Amino acid sequence: MKSHLRRILSTAVALVVLLGGLLPVSAAGFSDVPTGAYYAEAVRWAVDRSITQGVTSTSFKPNGICSRAEAVTFLWRFDYMPHFGKDLSFTDVPSGSYYYDAVRWAADRSITAGVSKTKFAPNDPCTRGQIVTFLWNFMGKPKSGGSNRFQDVAAGRYYSQAVCWAAEKGITNGTTATTFSPDDPCTRAQIVTMLYRFNKLIPVKKLVVLDPGHQSKGNNEKEPVAPGSKEMKAKCSTGTYGPTSKLAEYELNLTVSFQLREALERRGYRVLMTRESHDVNLSNIQRAQFANKAGADIAIRIHANGAENSSVNGVVTVCMTKNNPNCKGIYARSRSLSDVLVKQICAKTGARSQGVWETDTMTGLNWSTVPVSIVEMGYMSNPTEDRNMATASYQKKIVNGICDGVDEYFAKNG
Ligand SMILES: [Zn+2]
Repeated sequence: MKSHLRRILSTAVALVVLLGGLLPVSAAGFSDVPTGAYYAEAVRWAVDRSITQGVTSTSFKPNGICSRAEAVTFLWRFDYMPHFGKDLSFTDVPSGSYYYDAVRWAADRSITAGVSKTKFAPNDPCTRGQIVTFLWNFMGKPKSGGSNRFQDVAAGRYYSQAVCWAAEKGITNGTTATTFSPDDPCTRAQIVTMLYRFNKLIPVKKLVVLDPGHQSKGNNEKEPVAPGSKEMKAKCSTGTYGPTSKLAEYELNLTVSFQLREALERRGYRVLMTRESHDVNLSNIQRAQFANKAGADIAIRIHANGAENSSVNGVVTVCMTKNNPNCKGIYARSRSLSDVLVKQICAKTGARSQGVWETDTMTGLNWSTVPVSIVEMGYMSNPTEDRNMATASYQKKIVNGICDGVDEYFAKNG
């Protein structure tokens, strides 16, 4: 039995060695992307950035023609799939299609105006002139200092300035030294390569993690309040309730967080949310670790307050104390974040400021390794504040306040 096992093992080792010798021939697991190809590095990057997964798990189809729908979808994924867009006048972009959200976003950002007022032509090949124009529009139509070296790019065409800019920035080298071939369809290898080069011109987006507090069903199982602590707290409570608005806190928190995500994305931030529905089971440790693992620049935990005395009102933000042994590296930034958030929310809403509360009793703060603040937007136990927080207009003020706070935080802390 033993020698039989040894034989199997040695065969397995031989196989691994053999495969190990074969694998480096292709990149990113695609058999049709040779390691030496000009686009190999770009394909690896694009897979890593979740821009493409290939056409199958083993094929990228580098010479396949990129459609306009695919091109805009790649660009949308490149920008971390923002959740905003405008209503489309295009009749050929069905809701439910894989490119619907991407086209809505691209139209909103003036990256595309379609091929006519009512047509986007999603299945048409994306030409080289078009893709370079998309990228140029994405950047806000920058002026190019370079001169046109391509004989086939006439002045005054819709892509003329875009091509000059793209050549100047090294996004394209043309199809030869003197031709760009603007009307040729763009291949999948070409578009991924252009995006890869384009990426180097773009500053890395700041990542904001939003944690809409609580969930529809609490979880009374216990977890340590801090790493290594013997003190235990419930994994997640259902939160408070607004007797006037009839809203549960977990509902209000998610409603505001969705609006906040869109507003932050419009300001150029990348946003991830710990939950997008009420029906989840996430402990406070898991919520903190979500932001830690994502490498968030900051985490904001969205909550509303409750008090026995219904006259109590106002906004408070919460961070750890400077003596918290788990949060030594993040106290200063967490305090700074908490300071600007409460200041800006009160400036926009006119609510009373209760300032910043420093405490080491919050699981979600103690487990955080990234700067973090809990925002208590107002008191649901106060009839006026409860009624206000349930309205779209007041929610918008809270959202604008948080966005201004985030802008101020990064202006101060880089
Ligand atoms: Zn809460």
